[in-house]
Amino acid sequence: MAARTRADGSIPTSAERARARRISDALADRYPDISTALDYRSPWELLVSTVISAQTTDENVNRATPGLFERFPGPEDLANANPEEVEQLIYSTGYYRQKTKSIIGLATAIVDDHGGVVPDEMDTLVTLPGVGRKTASVLLAEAHGRPEIAVDTHVKRVSGRLGLTAETDPVKIEKDLKAVMPKPAWHKLSMRIIQFGRDTCDARSPRCGECPLMRTCRWPDKRA
Ligand code: SF4
Repeated sequence: MAARTRADGSIPTSAERARARRISDALADRYPDISTALDYRSPWELLVSTVISAQTTDENVNRATPGLFERFPGPEDLANANPEEVEQLIYSTGYYRQKTKSIIGLATAIVDDHGGVVPDEMDTLVTLPGVGRKTASVLLAEAHGRPEIAVDTHVKRVSGRLGLTAETDPVKIEKDLKAVMPKPAWHKLSMRIIQFGRDTCDARSPRCGECPLMRTCRWPDKRA
């Protein structure tokens, strides 16, 4: 198998890959069974929930979506929904007007262009309105177990501190992580890093003293 290149075209050394594997293993030990906190029963529900989860907590989304999916179970139902009714159902998640427009637009595109079935390929998913690479990666990794790495603010911060990437652009960070991390770990990696970023490698107050990656971490501001 050809070695994967980083965003800058370089190829990680075997020592760099071994170090990344140790980081990946430490995160897997810490969060063995992690998955998204969003409740969903199908790729469609995960996609809609992920769109609604912008700027709010997963708990808020999980409180709103049962009512939404009971009233509008599938793409066809939502594509034909009265926007005001949808707005009321997701009001508590904030930005409800924009989110209503997004999920109805998404449903319409899935019905009109994909026969009512959520696509399961990255190149197609990112053509859907309101679906960026991060959302598509979450969907593919979570709902299908595909080797994708979603890069959010936690993945960006923690990967940089650990010295796994020097990039700041999410697409380049994803490429760097895929170059160095073992492929079987990719589909769980984002969720593990996100949880680690929340409970240990916090943006403002990282708990370096209790961090299992303290010795390997390359962040100059880490504190024992
Ligand atoms: S040592 Fe501190 S900065 Fe480094 S990964 Fe751990 S918590 Fe984050």
